[in-house]
Amino acid sequence: MLKTTIAGSLPKPAWLATPRTLWAPWRLEGAALDEGRRDAVRLAVRDQEQAGIDIVTDGEQSRRHFVWGFVEGLEGIDWSRLVTIGIRADRYKAEVPTVTGPVRRRGSIHGEEARLLRASTVRPIKVTMPGPMTIVDTIADAHYGSRAALGRALAACLNEEARELAALGVDVIQLDEPAFNVYMDEVRDWGIEALDAAVAGLACRTAVHICYGYGIKANIDWKGTLGGEWRQYEQTFPLLAKSRIGGVSLECANSRVPIALIELLGDKDILLGAVDVATDAVETPAEVAAVIREALRHAPAERLYPCTNCGMVPLAREVASAKLRALAAGAALVRAELAPAAGRP
Ligand code: ZN
Repeated sequence: MLKTTIAGSLPKPAWLATPRTLWAPWRLEGAALDEGRRDAVRLAVRDQEQAGIDIVTDGEQSRRHFVWGFVEGLEGIDWSRLVTIGIRADRYKAEVPTVTGPVRRRGSIHGEEARLLRASTVRPIKVTMPGPMTIVDTIADAHYGSRAALGRALAACLNEEARELAALGVDVIQLDEPAFNVYMDEVRDWGIEALDAAVAGLACRTAVHICYGYGIKANIDWKGTLGGEWRQYEQTFPLLAKSRIGGVSLECANSRVPIALIELLGDKDILLGAVDVATDAVETPAEVAAVIREALRHAPAERLYPCTNCGMVPLAREVASAKLRALAAGAALVRAELAPAAGRP
């Protein structure tokens, strides 16, 4: 119980991509880039194992951005038609490609990455993909004419990919849906339905990561406008409790999310953000443990998976490594408290 995992991403080595940058350009090309990405995955896995993380990811070392990794594998998208749009309700601008025809997988998208990850560790593995609504919000549409229709089409592509990943031995598939905290009406109208379609019929465990974003300035400014308590989850959690998704990843470290809201998640797994990714200050194991203990007042240990608040790709590598160690050590502290006293001297 209290198995640890991370939201998904880790910083990339400086020889692979520009550090501390989202959408960072690669510093290698061609075969050297392929080899560099594989080496970076092995390092990311080793960092997690050495820290004591139980369910590991490839640190998203093979993708430039958490949305593009999947979208680049689809046909129906014109990358020469780049337009600048405001995403996440215009919180920031991004230059995005345009959907010009039916979206379909060209073939396997993350299969090779999943095989490498599976071969790199004996621990349970997790692969992340962007959720349908977050892709819709990070792309321009000139074909479907409705966000819901595009979302449904993307969900079908995600489901095909997810079935393939599960067959390759992936233990957990997580869909990242930061857009779920922005478009509450759309979550109700089509977001949950698309999420359910994306994870339909999967043999592995599933989760959705909802969040208030990386620790970049636009997000920190936005969080400042959300008031003393962040209650967005109050609307989405009851819907998720009735959905097909297996677990929910949310930020609880240094966040204004009232932790009691996890009671609204029914019997879902809770990937409990106990490490803040918006600061270089490294948590102590005691601070991590305090967040876990607080959550234990509202959900049983069997359903709690201590985790990071969000992806760590914008952090310095040594900071991220130290935070991994704090996460594992904090969870170990609480596990020791919960272990049956029987058998002790
Ligand atoms: Zn996040």
